[in-house]
Amino acid sequence: MAMVFTNRHRSRMGWARPSVLSHRACAVLCLHDHGAGKRADGPVLGGSLDPGAINQRDRATGIRLLPQATVAQGQHGNSWTRDIQGIFGIHEMGQFLQLWQMIADTILTDESDRLIWKWTSTGAYSTRSAYLATFHGSVTCPAWKMIWKAWRPPKVRFFLWLAQQDRCWTADRLARRDLQHHPRCLLCDQAFETIHHIIIACPFTQQIWHEVLAWFRLPVGCPNQEDSLLDWWNRARHNTPHPQRKGMASITLLLPWMVWKHRNDCVFDRAQPSIAALMSKIKEEATLWARAGAKGLRVILPQTCDVH
Ligand SMILES: [Zn+2]
Repeated sequence: MAMVFTNRHRSRMGWARPSVLSHRACAVLCLHDHGAGKRADGPVLGGSLDPGAINQRDRATGIRLLPQATVAQGQHGNSWTRDIQGIFGIHEMGQFLQLWQMIADTILTDESDRLIWKWTSTGAYSTRSAYLATFHGSVTCPAWKMIWKAWRPPKVRFFLWLAQQDRCWTADRLARRDLQHHPRCLLCDQAFETIHHIIIACPFTQQIWHEVLAWFRLPVGCPNQEDSLLDWWNRARHNTPHPQRKGMASITLLLPWMVWKHRNDCVFDRAQPSIAALMSKIKEEATLWARAGAKGLRVILPQTCDVH
């Protein structure tokens, strides 16, 4: 005899729990003990619970459990409800009603008990499915290709990854946490500082974009102030000749990184924003990246730069 659970049951029972449980030896219907700091995912039907653990629940909650009944016996006339006795609080009552609903929809069949792995269509375990299950519920970052594919130092990738998720400590983020922050962007003194403003929308940064694209002679326009960096990169790479695309991808991260560093100089070292000084640093940094291995940058760097 086997106990069949619906998908609704499975989602409540946690991802690694078998969907067909043995009931013959000591199948138990039990409530989770939240008061004792145990799991917090709702009521569980279990077929192999440790009797010691059950006794602990007894002592902690005052709920008395009778673990000797099989699932079939427990279902007969809903006798399992009489096996759970003791003092019920509102939390336990909620679990009890959840458990009641799960058991009401449970069907016992004459098939032999077996374990079913829920992450494959055949029900058979495979290491591949177990590995893929670890990604269950994860989300894809749409900018992954822009951030992780082109050549750039790891710290720059990490910065852009944070920037993409709005995790940089700009004024808006500091303000949300009631931390000290500047009332306006230090680069332009015109607007409130956000990461989008710093790397795209700031008039100072717009001027830098214009100068950098001109210096590399890339045939693409500056990002609009409403663009995200990803929007601009998607558009710009289609307008860039193929041999120059890798270089353009490196610049897409080089420029925001250098603007961010310049902004930090202004915040922490009281430096004055300077387009000429920043352009000089960007040219120097681009040359260093080319020497370090950024082949795409070697293609688009002006020949006056020494990359050897
Ligand atoms: Zn600004």
